[in-house]
Amino acid sequence: MAPSNEFNEVTIIAQKAIKKMIELGVPASPVNYMVWYHYFANSYPDLKRTIDVLLDNNQEFDDAQCAKIYEQYFTLDMESGMLETASTNIENVINRAVQYLDEAGTNAAEFGETLADASGGLEGQSNPDEARDIISGVVNATHEMEKRTKDLEERLVAASSEVADLRHEIEITRLEAATDGLTGLANRKRFDITLRDTAADMMENGEEMCLLMLDIDFFKKFNDSYGHQTGDQVLKLLAMTLNECIKGQDTAARYGGEEFGVILPHTSLDSAVVLAEHIRERVSRKSIINKSTGEQLGAITLSIGVSTYEFGEPLSELIARADTALYAAKNQGRNRVLSETDLASAVASV
Ligand code: GH3
Ligand code: MG
Ligand code: MG
Repeated sequence: MAPSNEFNEVTIIAQKAIKKMIELGVPASPVNYMVWYHYFANSYPDLKRTIDVLLDNNQEFDDAQCAKIYEQYFTLDMESGMLETASTNIENVINRAVQYLDEAGTNAAEFGETLADASGGLEGQSNPDEARDIISGVVNATHEMEKRTKDLEERLVAASSEVADLRHEIEITRLEAATDGLTGLANRKRFDITLRDTAADMMENGEEMCLLMLDIDFFKKFNDSYGHQTGDQVLKLLAMTLNECIKGQDTAARYGGEEFGVILPHTSLDSAVVLAEHIRERVSRKSIINKSTGEQLGAITLSIGVSTYEFGEPLSELIARADTALYAAKNQGRNRVLSETDLASAVASV
């Protein structure tokens, strides 16, 4: 029976998640549970890959580490929840505004009737007292109408400022959900979305687009020597350097762990290689200093792979070519840039 199978499957995954959390000494908070549940359910292959790499490197799975993973993989889901609430709120405000406008319409119609009655009453009216009464009735109705209109105006202004506040909230949520917490760069989800959108744009306009995949050389050794927190500072420094090197339309993202991706719209392969070389050189020249002790920690280097988009190809192929070039750069000694054409010519010359 399907439901009981499903029940068994979910329960087995849940048991595995709890067992693993106990084994690693991770508190079974909802955030941690969600990370480990999806790890065992393999519902997000990238999440599983990230955790496997961390496990292979004997990383600690403390609350901060789990929170990082959670943020990387699940905040866009939170974003959609938040957006749903915000859109319901906006709908409510708009419904209220429509009600106010309905009210304004009714008020105007009533006022119109009062004026029509008065005009009828005044026609052929020879009694000054009665004429005065009718006119004073019109004056009162006009005052009342003015008051109601002002009140409605105020309510509409309040509703419109409520909508503006909600919009602002949405913008902030969107931005936070798209940002990597440590480096402030676009996160993996935003990288995927931007790559997809940019590729579609470039294809439509017949423009070139390139991708850089960057990976820090021997970063595990750096962490082992100077600690994970100093390693985190290096990731931040690298993010700053990337931001200094790219232009407005480019997107630098944290692809995962110590791997970064840079999307370069309107860029030829030659120009992308020049930029990659510039980034590589600039990073290798920076000397890393431990801020608290003043200790010189030497420099870090990057290996970079570059690929160019072929219209219509699956984006996974574009990424795979940059990745292959990146790993060829690692194999050729690291601290270097290789592009997909370097690989093609290497194959051709074999
Ligand atoms: P390679 O030159 O082949 O890239 O060697 P590597 O040591 O950089 O590569 P490996 O994939 O073996 O190790 C990557 C390391 O990156 C493991 C982990 O310690 C580190 N790392 C991944 N994410 C983070 C992070 O958020 N902060 C810190 N400090 N280190 C991280
Ligand atoms: Mg590395
Ligand atoms: Mg790596």
